[in-house]
Amino acid sequence: MRKFLLLLTLPLLLASCCDSSDKGKTKEVANITDATVQSTIKSISEKHAGISSDMLERGVKHAASLWRNVDGTEADFKVFCKDHFIADEATKEIMFEKVSRNLEVLYGHFNKISLDLQRPLHEPMGEIIDVDKAFGGYSAQSHLTEDLYRNKLAFNIALNFPYYTLTEKEANASSWTRKEWAYARMGDVFTSRVPAEILQNVSEVGSASEMYIANYNIHMGQLVDADGKTHFPKDMVLLSHWNLRDEIKSHYSKGAEGVKLQGMVYEVMKRIIDQTIPADVINNGAYQWNPSTNETFKDSKAVTLESEQNGRYQQIINNFHAMRQIDAYSPLNTAVKRAFAGGMEITQADAEALFVEFMAAEELKQVGELIKKRLGRDLQPWDIWYDGFKARSSIDEDALNKITRTRYPDAKALDADLANLLLKLGFTQEKADFLAERIDVDAARGSGHAWGAAMKGETAHLRTRIPETGMDYKGYNIAIHEFGHNVEQTISLYDVDYYMLNGVPNTAFTEALAFIFQKRDLELLDMKNDNPEKEALQTLDNFWSTYEIMGVSLLDQRMWLWLYDNPDATADQLKVAVEKIAVDIWNEFYAPVFGIKDQPILAIYSHMINSPIYLSNYAFGHLIQFQVEQYLKTADFAPEVERLFKIGSITPNAWMQAGLGENISITSIIEEAGKAAEQLAN
Ligand SMILES: [Zn+2]
Repeated sequence: MRKFLLLLTLPLLLASCCDSSDKGKTKEVANITDATVQSTIKSISEKHAGISSDMLERGVKHAASLWRNVDGTEADFKVFCKDHFIADEATKEIMFEKVSRNLEVLYGHFNKISLDLQRPLHEPMGEIIDVDKAFGGYSAQSHLTEDLYRNKLAFNIALNFPYYTLTEKEANASSWTRKEWAYARMGDVFTSRVPAEILQNVSEVGSASEMYIANYNIHMGQLVDADGKTHFPKDMVLLSHWNLRDEIKSHYSKGAEGVKLQGMVYEVMKRIIDQTIPADVINNGAYQWNPSTNETFKDSKAVTLESEQNGRYQQIINNFHAMRQIDAYSPLNTAVKRAFAGGMEITQADAEALFVEFMAAEELKQVGELIKKRLGRDLQPWDIWYDGFKARSSIDEDALNKITRTRYPDAKALDADLANLLLKLGFTQEKADFLAERIDVDAARGSGHAWGAAMKGETAHLRTRIPETGMDYKGYNIAIHEFGHNVEQTISLYDVDYYMLNGVPNTAFTEALAFIFQKRDLELLDMKNDNPEKEALQTLDNFWSTYEIMGVSLLDQRMWLWLYDNPDATADQLKVAVEKIAVDIWNEFYAPVFGIKDQPILAIYSHMINSPIYLSNYAFGHLIQFQVEQYLKTADFAPEVERLFKIGSITPNAWMQAGLGENISITSIIEEAGKAAEQLAN
């Protein structure tokens, strides 16, 4: 269902640009008064004796919240509701099945159109010309949502299958039948009707922020130390913050010089956070810059440059103002609620409580000590990105390449082997054939991806890059990851009992299966992984990156709550607030592990600017993935994979309860990390 929401919110956004005919008129505002809502409810309950007053009230109120002048007068609304409210269950079920079938027809075909139009972009089908890009970017479904309001189907659906809040869904989770869940998901299809120009503005401001980040490059070859010496390759240009972070990661095995370079990158990050960075060293290699002293030079002569002047924080403020305009039109009346209760289906309060509990775990100190020992030095703030827990196999990669190249000379060879791979994982012949028939392997231009179908009868696509010489091991490893996605996509479409429940609650669930498949890649080549520390290393790698991303996510959450408390804040005030929140989080949760205070490093993430309120998704992803993987480690693999991914897209906590018998929790990851740290310390 999250898929549907995506399909329906995105098109709405795109539709908006071409639908300005009624601009400036009052049609964009809900025009149904409370009195009309009440009299409508009254007249319907008089018409049908003994109906559920809860369903009736919900339905009428929800439909009223979506109705606009352009849809008709208040009297029209009342007549519409009276005519279309379904009182008896049998008729309602027929309507549900018909709507469900037709949504599958629409979503399924639109998905297929996009997939087919983008084929020349994704598969090697000759040179890509402008026409390919234009067709690839075309969205056939962009007018769907508005069309469904115009022909009143949206109101009919909203009236009879009303919206439930996350709290209501969770409260009902244990008592709802599958059909009631499916009805509730139908109620999520039309939840808000935001004026086109507001969505357009959100999209424009968002694009501007993306551009801002995409052009935030640092010319590393121009960084100088106190002696005027450069340490990075002359033409190295790194994008903030991802490339900067990866540069830090790449210096872990390089001794004292490595630490020095990591320190220089960190100085750059601090200048970005506090905005003292000279504007002319961003995306510009004309000056030498000492990030430690903030001195700048042109041809070795000192020059004075202006600092960036809070451009970074202005982007966040712009996004906040644009997104806040939606508040009045959504049952989730803040951007924070829409991102959490709406998008992730976990409340912000629950997220914060879980993150805070995780970051206070004693095991973090234990792992911090282990890292210190492995590095042979005290921890530095940037060691939140320590990457020394990667398991290296002693199997020679050339030998693996030889095997994969022979087995998979082309996409067809992998396609023909899918059922066999599933048999090795323990699926029955029948199930293996069923799944393999519904997954097609295509040669890809890029590194590949998994693209699922959105209606039964269509196949999922595994896109993988295979060179002329055959598939190399790295490509094979990624292809097995994508195959895991395809298996999830196929089970959760074909085997879920109601189309409205197809899919998984969010991307963490599909990533879990993809990584589980990927980890078994050697097994699928009939080989064994030889590193006895592999499991422990993977656990600690996951544990440490969860720690890092949770701090960053908590900062993102608290910054947005602060913005709602201070809606008129200037960029300068926001900067001060973000620095304070970042340092507070550091001092509470990182200083005890790192032994250093007052570090602002958590504020460097670019996502805070170009993906508003998204970071917590990654943090939850880590937890959910770990729990699902942990569960499947000891489970009867294939039958349990089938059972889990048949659950479908109910809420994340309800899925975890139904699947694993527990809520999303930090307990097992912390326990396992403690054990792993002990194993590696010995
Ligand atoms: Zn993936």
